[in-house]
Amino acid sequence: MRGVRWLKGIWRGASFSSKFATVILVAGMTIAVVPLMLAEASARTQAENSAADRAFIAANLIDGQRSSLAGFIAGVGRQLASDHDVATPQALRATLIADTSVIGTGDVLGVVLSDGEVVAVQGSSALSTPSSSPIVSAVSARATTAVRTGGQAWLVAASTIPETDATAFVARPLTAGFITAIAHNIATAADPVGILLLDGNRTLAATGSVTSLTPALAVAIAKPVPDVVSLDSRQFAVASTSIGSGLTLAVATPFAGPPIAWQSILLLVAVILVAMLFIVIVVQIDLRRPLRRLDAAVAALGSGDFDRPVHTDSVDEIGRLGSSFEAMRTQVRSTVRVAATRAAVAMELSLAQPLEGALANVCAELRRAIEVDMAMIVVSGSEMSDPFAVADGGRRITFDGFLEGRGPLGEAYRYAGVGAIMLGATAAAPEARLLVREFCAAPLRLGKHVHGVLAVAGQDSAFTAGDADLVASTAEQISLALERYRFLAVVQRQASVDDLTGLYNHRFLIDSLGQQVALAERLGTSLAILMLDIDHFKALNDTHGHHAGDVALTTFAQTVFNNVRRADLAARYGGEEFVVLMPNTSAEDAFVVAEKIRAAVAATEVELSERARVRLTVSVGVAAYPQDTDSAAELFGLADEALYEAKRMGRDRTCLASRARLSMVQDARVTNSESSVGARHHRSSE
Ligand code: GH3
Ligand code: MG
Ligand code: MG
Repeated sequence: MRGVRWLKGIWRGASFSSKFATVILVAGMTIAVVPLMLAEASARTQAENSAADRAFIAANLIDGQRSSLAGFIAGVGRQLASDHDVATPQALRATLIADTSVIGTGDVLGVVLSDGEVVAVQGSSALSTPSSSPIVSAVSARATTAVRTGGQAWLVAASTIPETDATAFVARPLTAGFITAIAHNIATAADPVGILLLDGNRTLAATGSVTSLTPALAVAIAKPVPDVVSLDSRQFAVASTSIGSGLTLAVATPFAGPPIAWQSILLLVAVILVAMLFIVIVVQIDLRRPLRRLDAAVAALGSGDFDRPVHTDSVDEIGRLGSSFEAMRTQVRSTVRVAATRAAVAMELSLAQPLEGALANVCAELRRAIEVDMAMIVVSGSEMSDPFAVADGGRRITFDGFLEGRGPLGEAYRYAGVGAIMLGATAAAPEARLLVREFCAAPLRLGKHVHGVLAVAGQDSAFTAGDADLVASTAEQISLALERYRFLAVVQRQASVDDLTGLYNHRFLIDSLGQQVALAERLGTSLAILMLDIDHFKALNDTHGHHAGDVALTTFAQTVFNNVRRADLAARYGGEEFVVLMPNTSAEDAFVVAEKIRAAVAATEVELSERARVRLTVSVGVAAYPQDTDSAAELFGLADEALYEAKRMGRDRTCLASRARLSMVQDARVTNSESSVGARHHRSSE
C-alpha cells in the first residue's frame, strides 16, 4: 500500500515529458519482450517435441532390431528342429556356424540345451561364464534385453526349438556403434542429435555432442516430459524413453533459442530510446511551452491584467484553448474598458468645470478607450449658447458646416435610429479636412431635441459593436450633461437678470462691481461708473398708472443697453435707478457715454398707450478710478454724489464726481453744510 502511494506521489509530481517517456518505455519494452518470450516458448516447445519424436523413433528402431532378431532366431530354431541338429552337438554347432554368416560379428548366437548346457558358436567370449550370463538369464526369463554387470547391454531374442526342450537365442550388443547408427538414422546435418544409453545413472553408451550424464541432465531425464537443459553453456532439448530392463535411451537435440536475436532487441531498445527522446522534445515544444505560456497569460487575467494577449501558435487542443481564453480576455477587457470609461465620463461631466473643458476631457477618455485617432463633440447652437466643437487627438476643429453637411457628422446629427452608426467620409465631405476617414458617431439626443453629435474617427479604424455601444452610451451621458448645463445656465441667468427690463439685477451688479474693482486695482486699469435716475418718475406713475411706469422703465432700459458697449455692464440698481459699469474707461469717456444716453433718452418717445406718449429725462452721475479716487471701492459713493449734484442742478444733465465735489466744497463755504449732508442722507435712505 505504501509503495502504491509512493508511486502515485511520484507520478503526480512528474512532468509531462517524463510521464510520456515512461509510458513509451513501458509500452516499447512490452512490445519488444512479449514476442521474444512467446517466440522462445514456441521454439522451446518445438525443440522439446522434436526431441520426444526422435526418442520415439529411436525406440522404434531398437524395437525393429528386436523383431528382426526374433524373426531370425525363430528361423534358426525351426531349422535346428527339422535337421535334428539338437541331437548331436557337432551338427548343432555346424548349423549355428552356418547361420552366423547372416548376423553381425559382435552378436552372440547359441542354444541353451534342456540340461542347461549352453552351446554358443559366436561371441561366446561374451558368455564367459555361460550358465550365469545375463544373456542366458534373459533367455530363461523370456526377456528381450540383458545388461551385464559392468557395462554391456544386449538385445536378446530366443526361440524354443520345436519338439525339444532346447532354446535357440541371439543377442546383439548395444554398443556405441549401435547407438551411433541409430543416431545417424534420426539426425540430419542441420539438426544433429546426441544419444545416451543409460542403466539407471550409469552411462552404457554415448554418441554425439552429449557424452556424459550431468546432474542437470539426470534431472531432465527423470522427468516424464521433455525439457531443455544447459550443458557446457549450450542448450539441449532432452527426451527419454525406456527400452526395458531399466535401460533408458535419452535423446538430446541442440536448442538454438528463439528466432529473434538479442541484437535485434538491442536495436529495438535503441529505437525506443530515440522515440522517447523525440516524444520528450515534442512534448516540450508542443505541450509544455504552450501550456506554460497559457498558464502565465491566464495568471495575468486572474490578476486583472487584461491587456496581455494570450498567444497561441498552434491549432491543436492547446491552440483552441488559447483562442478561447483570448476571446474571453478581449471580451472582459472591453467590458472593463467600457465600465471604466463610463465612470470616467460620468465624473468629468459631474465636476464643476466649464462645459467645453468637460467635453474635451470626455473626448480624451473616449479616444483612449477606443484607441482611435480622434474623438469630437459638435454642439449645435441654442437660445443659451452659440454652437461649438471640441476634439481630442491634437486637432483643432471648427464647427462650421459639419452638422448641416452631408458628411458623417451631419448624417449622425439627423440619424433618427437608436445607438451609434458607422460611416465613412468622402473627399467631398466637410470632415475630409480632419484627415480621418472612418467615423463612429451618435446624435446627442434628449427626448425629441438633438443637441449635437459625438463621434470617434480614425484613418483606418475598424469599429466593433462594443465601440459603437460605448459611443452611444457616452452620447446619452453627454446629452444629459448638456441638458443639465443648459438648465444651470437658465437658473443662473434668472438669478442675475431683472425680470422687467432684461438688464442685470442689483445682486449681479454688486458681485460684478466687486470683481471689476479688484481687477482694476490689480491690473492698474481705469474703471468708470454711471449712476442714472429717471427724473420725476413718481409723477409719471401718478399720472399714467403703475403699468405705464413699467413700460417706460422697459423702454428706458433698452435705450441704455443700446448705447453702451458689449464690454460694459448695464444693470437696474432698483426702482427707476440704473448703473452702468465701464471697465478700461476714463471719466471723460464715461461722460461722453452718459451724455449719449441722456440725449437718446430725451429723444425717445415712450408709447405708454395708444393715446399717451411721453418723453423721459434722466440725470446721470459719473465717477472714475483712478481719476476721482485712489480706492476703486469708493467709486459707487462718488457716482451717487455726482447724481445728487445733477438732480440738484436741475435734472436732465450729467455731473462728474470731480465737479460734484467742487460744488460741495463751494456749498460748504456759502451755505449751511448740515443741510447738504442731510440731503445726501435723505437720498441714501431711499
Ligand atoms: P426725481 O426727479 O427727484 O428723481 O423725482 P422722482 O419722482 O423720480 O423721485 P423718486 O425717486 O422719489 O421716485 C421714484 C418713484 O419711482 C417712486 C416709485 O413710485 C417709482 N417706482 C419705483 N420702482 C418702480 C417700478 O418698478 N415701477 C413703477 N411703475 N414705478 C416705480
Ligand atoms: Mg429715484
Ligand atoms: Mg427719480
